Amino acid sequence: MKIQILPSSIDENGSASQRQHLLTMIVDDVIAVDAGCLALSCSDNQRRTVRDILLTHTHLDHIAGLPLFIDDLFASLDWPIRIHLTKEMRDILERDIFNWAIYPRFSELCNSRGPVIEYREFEAGTSFEVAHLSIRSVHVNHQVSAVGYFLSDGSTTIAISGDTAETDDFWKICNGIGSLKAVLVECAFPDEMEKLAIDSNHLTPGRLSSELQKLDDPETRVYIINLKPMYRDAVIRQIGEVGIERVEIMQVGEVYNF
Ligand SMILES: [Zn+2]
Repeated sequence: MKIQILPSSIDENGSASQRQHLLTMIVDDVIAVDAGCLALSCSDNQRRTVRDILLTHTHLDHIAGLPLFIDDLFASLDWPIRIHLTKEMRDILERDIFNWAIYPRFSELCNSRGPVIEYREFEAGTSFEVAHLSIRSVHVNHQVSAVGYFLSDGSTTIAISGDTAETDDFWKICNGIGSLKAVLVECAFPDEMEKLAIDSNHLTPGRLSSELQKLDDPETRVYIINLKPMYRDAVIRQIGEVGIERVEIMQVGEVYNF
């Protein structure tokens, strides 16, 4: 399975930087997990091939590129873009984003070939198929309706936490998957911002370290995603100081083959 975090900012030379303001992960060039920067930094090929979007939750850094992606492709779509989400997420998108005031209600619009989006609702905790992958969802601990995902192609499974504070079911499911190759987990804030992390349901390096005690297999690789750009260097330094050997920072833009 191939996973790439799309860049969402540029450095002083105009090249992609590691500063991650918005989150989108592209899986095997056909599925996007979140749409924070989907319209902004996907390749032309990904723009042609990504037609399924799994949302972890509706915070802006995870959906900002969704209206723009639909808008960009509107006239060219032969079939609708499928947005996989919970009912709570759908209600929020329809009320707060696709409300004609912020952006068009694409669910009411068609191009010459038909609808341009299709909501595929699921209950947190259920499993379903998307493209060539089996997807299992799990409720995680964030400020709004939020899920993590387990993506499996039959031989490899990758776990993605989404935004979350301390949670149990996610780790329990990890421990029951024999084919689990890697866990992608958030770590948004440095330890000195623990109060803000608690108030906003995010992890810090210290609290991530406690969470990883729940992961049984010491061989499972752990990749850190969703580092707030302002605190990225501090979070990376503190993760090093915590001394969790199997943890590495997932590099923005790099394609990982699992
Ligand atoms: Zn969030």
